[in-house]
Amino acid sequence: MHKQSQKDVGQDTSSLGSEFKKRDAIWPLVLFYIHVNILGLYGIYVLVVSAAWSTILFTALLTLLGTMGSTVGVHRLWAHGTFTASKPLRVFLMLCQTTAGQGSIYSVVQAHRLHHEKFQQDEDPYYSKHSFLYAQVRGGLLKYSPQQEELLKDVDMSDLESDSIVMFQKRFYVLLYIFFNILLSVNTPFQYFGDTLSASMFVGFWLRSLIVINVGNLVNSAHFVWSIHKGFKPTDSNSIFLITKSYWPQFHYLLPRDYQSGEFGDYASGLGASVIRVFAALDWAKDLRTVGSVAVRQGLSRAVETGRPIVECIEEQVRLEENALPANHFLNREKFM
Ligand SMILES: [Zn+2]
Repeated sequence: MHKQSQKDVGQDTSSLGSEFKKRDAIWPLVLFYIHVNILGLYGIYVLVVSAAWSTILFTALLTLLGTMGSTVGVHRLWAHGTFTASKPLRVFLMLCQTTAGQGSIYSVVQAHRLHHEKFQQDEDPYYSKHSFLYAQVRGGLLKYSPQQEELLKDVDMSDLESDSIVMFQKRFYVLLYIFFNILLSVNTPFQYFGDTLSASMFVGFWLRSLIVINVGNLVNSAHFVWSIHKGFKPTDSNSIFLITKSYWPQFHYLLPRDYQSGEFGDYASGLGASVIRVFAALDWAKDLRTVGSVAVRQGLSRAVETGRPIVECIEEQVRLEENALPANHFLNREKFM
């Protein structure tokens, strides 16, 4: 994507030196992140000793919806276009994403597309070449370098710019954040469940934010956790956190347009893929894109025959296979995998 212009940017600015690549901290965000972690941990104590069951269940539901907004919404729908969604579904996913508190859909998608484009290079906003903590925490707390600002201008965002729901959220993000992220989570337990203000704040807002923000950040850093390291036997299950490894994070960076690709090391079996299938069965989600093993085999043999890049050959086969798949292939997955 935009290879020529990025090359030009690199050449024109190489003389500007390290200033061009320097990233300063966003101090209000750093302070907020420190508060989220400390007050969120205190929220665990409040949850155990005093929170009402209704507050706990409501917060768990909001946490799940916020996570879904980041994974199914931002990542699989808007960043990679692995399916298309009806307007009601886009409104629902936009509201879920607002409760994740990670910035507007537009800004997160723009950064994630640059992350893919510059994966394991210095220009990646989430430092995919460095450590897990850089990718998980530090990358999100720094301003973009002038070099990254230039690169972000070149990221193709035309699909999101023609999505009225995304642009509405971008325009009114602060208002939506205050209403759906702060007031909804704190006011509901306090006013309607009769819980204390302390439980409503520390469990409803701070503990929920701690979980949703850190899980959301994993979309960019999960490859450190679930990818294969030397010596690990690969598997497609993430049942043993940190010990069981998987090929799927690498698969995602190679072929990102697959709705079944889980963010956290799973494939086809995770909650995100199931939720998309349910929405597809309801006709709210359409054009589900996936990569069948037949397409991979044929793409590989085509790459060997022609000497062309492997990814290009596989994507070509995927397009052919998509045309051959029945529209409701997601209901009968085994037959086509
Ligand atoms: Zn991605």
